[in-house]
Amino acid sequence: MKFAHSQNLFQEASLHLVGGVDSPVRAFKGVGGTPLFIKRAKGASLWDVDGNRYIDYVGSWGPMIWGHAPLFVLNAIRRAIRSGTSFGAPSEAETQLAQWVKRCVPSIEKIRFVNSGTEATMGAIRAARGYTKRDKIIKFDGCYHGHADHLLVKAGSGAQTLGTPDSAGVPSALAQETLVATYNDLGSVAALFQKFPGQIAAVIVEPVVGNMGVILPQANFLPGLRDLCTHEQSVLIFDEVMTGFRLALGGAQELYGVKPDMTCLGKIIGGGLPVGAYGGAQDIMSVVAPEGPVYQAGTLSGNPVAMAAGSATLKELIKSPPYAQLNEASSELMRGLRDIAAQVSIPVQVNQVGSMWTLFFADRPITNAGEARRSDTKRFAQFFHLMIEAGVYLPPSQFEAAFVSAVHTTHEFEKTLQRAEAALQKLREAA
Ligand SMILES: *Cc1c(COP(=O)(O)O)cnc(C)c1O
Repeated sequence: MKFAHSQNLFQEASLHLVGGVDSPVRAFKGVGGTPLFIKRAKGASLWDVDGNRYIDYVGSWGPMIWGHAPLFVLNAIRRAIRSGTSFGAPSEAETQLAQWVKRCVPSIEKIRFVNSGTEATMGAIRAARGYTKRDKIIKFDGCYHGHADHLLVKAGSGAQTLGTPDSAGVPSALAQETLVATYNDLGSVAALFQKFPGQIAAVIVEPVVGNMGVILPQANFLPGLRDLCTHEQSVLIFDEVMTGFRLALGGAQELYGVKPDMTCLGKIIGGGLPVGAYGGAQDIMSVVAPEGPVYQAGTLSGNPVAMAAGSATLKELIKSPPYAQLNEASSELMRGLRDIAAQVSIPVQVNQVGSMWTLFFADRPITNAGEARRSDTKRFAQFFHLMIEAGVYLPPSQFEAAFVSAVHTTHEFEKTLQRAEAALQKLREAA
């Protein structure tokens, strides 16, 4: 395979864009090498500017549950654009998408559309703080909720529980309002509630973690969070930006049967255009302006073209839910990967729920961020590049979720497994 065109374009991009990209993970820092510049995407395939074709398991990081460029979404966008691209005034498309979302996610009584997942979690947390009149929040080590100041915080070492910023430029005063607990460890949450009684506005969690690689909630974890939040009168926020409409029509809250007070959405609800949303119980959402005193606004929020793309995507999901088939196909692919790794005796952990999955190069189960960090990221990087060379596009980091779309076929899974087998054999020989 040749990558000369991508390499040239990346060099040129780097003269003008910070790091040559507009979102850091795209730069391949986690795996080395230069990012591929994509020319075209259709169905389960990507083509780069050198003409190489890949089976895509990134799916634009989650939105493409129907594969790339499905006709019903393209047509909805074309129809919408004929009437203009932005009005800065209400349009019916917003109410329509709100109705589709509410029909699937009954915990959402009122919703506010924004332009990204980051904006959704910022809005949800501000609303939760306004509603409870408390300042502190709890998040979990390894959970990503977008790049807002108070959310770019993970646990420090040892017993440290007060947040330290993960990024330069985050005021420590803000980070200190963020308390960090351990995913799948209810005790770590209870301890924070005990230490800061009556001060915690909200607990925000990825109900299934996708941003540390895929990590599943253990049986009592989400119900336990529900109980703790109810008891402490804290707002339970499920960040379903990734899992919403990905794991079920009603997201992880439907799959695991736990009802949060607020939900953040993004990715799939925009059908590949920039849309985020937060919503929840009527009494909480009514603190948001113009109904209440919590300010949050957006020039392009509820954009009619983006709403149309989202509605077309959701309508199709409701009409023919792909979830059972997605789960079956993904489970089959995972069985294949596990078997191959076992044959060549390379220790892996395959974490999967529905169409979200991660192949960790690790010899022990991964149930939280600390365990995920012990994975062999060097081996992952080698595997990643071997798969690229073989025409399979995986997320360029050990700590990201991969996605199967509803239009991936058995044929593509077979090719993926053959190529993974060859790649893992090479890793074994190199070891
Ligand atoms: C992607 C993601 C976000 C951020 O969404 P953006 O649209 O990239 O701002 C927030 N939370 C979760 C769980 C995500 O997966």
